[in-house]
Amino acid sequence: MLTDSFNRPIEYLRLSVTDKCDLRCSYCIPQGFTEFEKPENWLSFDDIERIVAAFARLGTSRFRLTGGEPLLRKNLPDLVSRLAALPGVNDLSLTTNGTQLTRLADPLKRAGLNRLNVSLDSMRRECVSQISGKDSFDKVMAGLNAAKAAGFERIKINMVPLPGVNIDDIDAMIAFCIKQQFILRLIEVMPMGNHAQRLDYFNLIQLIENLKPKYGLQRSSKVYGGGPAKYWENESGSFTLGLITPRSQHFCDTCNRVRLSVDGTLFLCLGQDHSFSLKPYLADRCSDAELENAIQQAINLKPEKHEFNDKPEQIVRIMAKTGG
Ligand code: SAM
Repeated sequence: MLTDSFNRPIEYLRLSVTDKCDLRCSYCIPQGFTEFEKPENWLSFDDIERIVAAFARLGTSRFRLTGGEPLLRKNLPDLVSRLAALPGVNDLSLTTNGTQLTRLADPLKRAGLNRLNVSLDSMRRECVSQISGKDSFDKVMAGLNAAKAAGFERIKINMVPLPGVNIDDIDAMIAFCIKQQFILRLIEVMPMGNHAQRLDYFNLIQLIENLKPKYGLQRSSKVYGGGPAKYWENESGSFTLGLITPRSQHFCDTCNRVRLSVDGTLFLCLGQDHSFSLKPYLADRCSDAELENAIQQAINLKPEKHEFNDKPEQIVRIMAKTGG
């Protein structure tokens, strides 16, 4: 098993297939941002397949496609079918803003995608427009319907609660998720990029104390995916809530993941700049053993923890550049 210098097994790779996005969520890509990676620097599907195969040989079994907006990458279902066929790839998932799902949910399901997360920050269209910079609500709703029709089950909805913006929407999001049998995941905003550093985070550890009696929630021991969320469930099992709390209760001691950006840079921690480029190894057509060795060298650089609370101004890299 691929293990870092703090003895944490690296079971999970998140891959950005593009840093571009059709939305401009206030916590993710700032309005007017232009520094996207040039297409000539993008990893090809062959490169991505090689890297995923190498991680899988080293024991990593969960892979998530993300971005930017991964559905903007041309011929994505082809990549999914190539990755799904690799030995050792036991869980292949994708995080999307949902705007392209009416067109792509079915091809992605048929290509072998196992699981889907869709970002949605409110049930109010004007609030979604305010946060995402675009009137995207109807497209996302249609995309969610298409995903259900394609056969995706237990879809996770990612919501970033922002004080003064969408906190009052949490109850409506819960009602929607119960009705649709979606899992709701609330994520504390991380200070990635100057724009996100200006946003206050909403303390989810405090929130859960209010939600527990209101919805009869109990801590769940079930595992839904390989991520850092901690889950709560109501008694009937009709509602599952996941909390991701990098600010109020960090989970670095159990961090099991690294991220690959679209240009082949491995980022070892969301909240630190430690990185390692795999691109030169691919360009030199190195052997499989050399690539595996390079990956292990990169993993050795993984830092112990992020410092989002102590040094909130530290990370100027925006989330979409890293592959959130
Ligand atoms: N475009 C896709 C989407 O919207 O889901 C995938 C990429 S996006 C970077 C992945 C996730 O990161 C989304 O759920 C988004 O809400 C979350 N995210 C982006 N910036 C964030 C930040 N600064 N803090 C916390 N979560 C963030």
